[in-house]
Amino acid sequence: MQPLPLTFDFAEETTYFADLILPVPIPRMFTYRVPRDMVERLKVGARVIVPFGKNRVYTAVVGRIHHQPPSNYQAKYILELLDEYPLVTTYQLELFSWMAEYYLCNIGEVLNVALPSGLKITSQSKVQYNPDFDYPELLTEGEGRLLDELKKHSALSYEELGRLVGETNVPTTIKSLVGKRAVIVFDEVREKYVPKMVRKVRLTERYETREQVLALINALEKSPKQQEVVMKYLSYVPVQNNPILNRKGLDKTVLNQDDEVSQSSLQTLIKNQVFETYEVIVPRFGDDDLPNVEVKLTDVQQRACNQVLSQFNEKDIVLLHGITGSGKTEVYINLIQTALESGSQVLYLLPEIALTTQIVVRLKKVFGDKLGIYHSKFSDNERVEVWKGIVDGQYQFVVGVRSAVFLPFDNLGLIIVDEEHETSYKQHDPAPRYHARDVAMMIAHWQKAKVLLGSATPSIESYYHAQQGRYGLVELLERYGDAMLPDIVLVNTRVERQQKKMKNEFSSVLLDHLQHNLERKEQSILFQNRRGYSPYLQCEDCEWTSRCPNCDVSLTYHMRAAELRCHYCGHHDPVPKSCPACGSFKVRTIGFGTEKLEDQLQIVFPEAQIQRMDLDTTRAKNAYQQIISEFEGGNVDILVGTQMISKGLDFGNVSLVGIFDADRMIHYPEFRAVERAFQMITQVSGRAGRRADRRGKVLIQTTNPQQAVLLKVMENDYRGLFEEEIIERQNFNYPPFSRLIKLTVRHAEQNISQQAAQRLVDQLTEKLGEARVLGPEVPLVERIRNQFLYTILIKLERSISPKAAKAFILEKINELLSDKGLKAVTIVADVDCL
Ligand code: ADP
Ligand code: ZN
Ligand code: ZN
Repeated sequence: MQPLPLTFDFAEETTYFADLILPVPIPRMFTYRVPRDMVERLKVGARVIVPFGKNRVYTAVVGRIHHQPPSNYQAKYILELLDEYPLVTTYQLELFSWMAEYYLCNIGEVLNVALPSGLKITSQSKVQYNPDFDYPELLTEGEGRLLDELKKHSALSYEELGRLVGETNVPTTIKSLVGKRAVIVFDEVREKYVPKMVRKVRLTERYETREQVLALINALEKSPKQQEVVMKYLSYVPVQNNPILNRKGLDKTVLNQDDEVSQSSLQTLIKNQVFETYEVIVPRFGDDDLPNVEVKLTDVQQRACNQVLSQFNEKDIVLLHGITGSGKTEVYINLIQTALESGSQVLYLLPEIALTTQIVVRLKKVFGDKLGIYHSKFSDNERVEVWKGIVDGQYQFVVGVRSAVFLPFDNLGLIIVDEEHETSYKQHDPAPRYHARDVAMMIAHWQKAKVLLGSATPSIESYYHAQQGRYGLVELLERYGDAMLPDIVLVNTRVERQQKKMKNEFSSVLLDHLQHNLERKEQSILFQNRRGYSPYLQCEDCEWTSRCPNCDVSLTYHMRAAELRCHYCGHHDPVPKSCPACGSFKVRTIGFGTEKLEDQLQIVFPEAQIQRMDLDTTRAKNAYQQIISEFEGGNVDILVGTQMISKGLDFGNVSLVGIFDADRMIHYPEFRAVERAFQMITQVSGRAGRRADRRGKVLIQTTNPQQAVLLKVMENDYRGLFEEEIIERQNFNYPPFSRLIKLTVRHAEQNISQQAAQRLVDQLTEKLGEARVLGPEVPLVERIRNQFLYTILIKLERSISPKAAKAFILEKINELLSDKGLKAVTIVADVDCL
């Protein structure tokens, strides 16, 4: 029946508005008008294209739909709707707002980092002539020409179009054409990623156990053709006692193609509900047909697993302290399986580098195409694929780097943060400067998921929370398979130098061991941390190193200013002419990198195959993996590297690890130096001696073998380290006893930068008090990109609300920036800075 023609539809007359998140650094959402033909289709979380300013067009995400026109500006229309279904879940919208507030940045900046660029308009986006466009309508000459080309050839990317027309500023022109609605942008990515569906067939739920299947085969005795189909199916998908495995099914085309299988019998079996068919989306990257490896957990591992599960009954977060080689990965796999079986999603976070290694191969073997991988070296398309795969339900389980916290999960049951102490979980630039571990905890809280933190060397913060009972704590303090922890030896390079036994940076002890290893064809790893770009002063004759009287950090030698400076409180001293402790003149800076080691080594061992692994040798997409597989294949005798070699690598043939410049790590000018040094050295040492038949050796070169932290490393005494560190943290009010916010003030002129910083400090101090606001101080690198930097460190005790303090800080920053004279000043806030 036709609707009554005279019915007046009020809804029709109502104007709809949408608050949109635009990828711009402005602290709010923007309100746009919803065109009438879009009202029914527009959903919160969908992407749209909107004009912005005079000439710009952005991909934005719908945050809210309502009827309230903006009060102080005329709302523009949304131009295009890109998604019929929300691409961003409500959880993510909540996450974006929370991150903006918590990390003192703009929601648009969060969106910008969260969405893979394949989901935003880029020069690869396809554009199409809009047939509804009233042509010509105020087009510039360039726009007209582009439009003509577009009419001739239909969908073209910005780049293709640019090539046709030969214009350089095609993207801008196209954006203005989009703004005038002369062309339509459509989502190439969406076209490309319409998932490919495959029909599968499997036994129905009535046949889950071996007994039920045997009964079925017997029952089909009188229908031999049908029996044969079932047998054929079983030859592909063996029935075990585990019902879950039975549910995986078989690609239907396999049975269809099999000549011996009677198609009509198959149909009959489906009709009789012996078999059922279902559809799955096939993954795009190949699934190397890896066999599923069954690993049986050891008793100790099984106990750890059970403890984690039982602690999850009471705690939302559990810390798994498991030494290197204890088999944490196997414990994770077990817990992941449990979570997946209960139907929830799982996110497994790994530091950048660890993700390209054996761990992922292992996970692939167990989880096959259920597993999505999210890596920063992946192409845009690959990342979009994972994003969509989660929305479509193909990937129930994703292993990824820190940015994987932005993926559209809505039903997480478990988040694992492996190597939770890793600093690469913190993003430095651009905003949001988030810590993936902390964000993961927030997400878990919203989705009622559990979080498992894992590490051989937990961060002091996490271990403290575990001790306080805020987190659960499970320990796994035995290596798998009788492998012993390596024998750690400290080599005194000061003594060796006095005895003239050093060859450049190499002690004779280390060279002897390397020689020995080369002869036995066993592999060695040499570690030199290149992060310590700042030199420090040290006396060669005694143990003196430059240290700040106010903070528990080293003083850094600044050559230009001829000063020793503290980067935490701003304390500074002139450079002493001789050692303040013993008067010796042998006070010097120290420093050398991996490259120099590699060169020197090749001279000593001209026959040896030496590889270097650091940032410089691993820029290309697969370079890292290549070095790893060469090393794994035995083509490399000695691998020299930075902290990259410390993570997640599991090589059976490595029996020697050499560690250089341990002192430098220990005296790095920051309060976490000792913790970091312990973590780094323990992790690198953990690469040695993973086989039961021989104990690995670790040689640590140091000028001072008496240092407490080195003794703790030797004894594998994490607890001892923790107990000392936590006292220091308390004494100097550092995390976990306080929260740190670092403000960096930048300007091209030093005095403006300094004045602005000082003013900010004065204003912050007024309310927060002197003890909480340190600085302004000149950072280690005082000028970056021709901008002068000053930093302010704010320490907030855990007892005060960071929310109110942050609001106050933000207010003061905005106040300062609104001063006309300080327009060009930039202030960067880093919350929970490391
Ligand atoms: P971690 O991450 O704690 O350093 P891994 O998970 O890498 O330790 O395990 C160390 C080695 O021991 C790996 O080669 C792993 O395959 C092996 N392994 C650990 N547990 C088992 C097990 N239950 N069965 C067989 N191999 C195991
Ligand atoms: Zn001295
Ligand atoms: Zn200081």
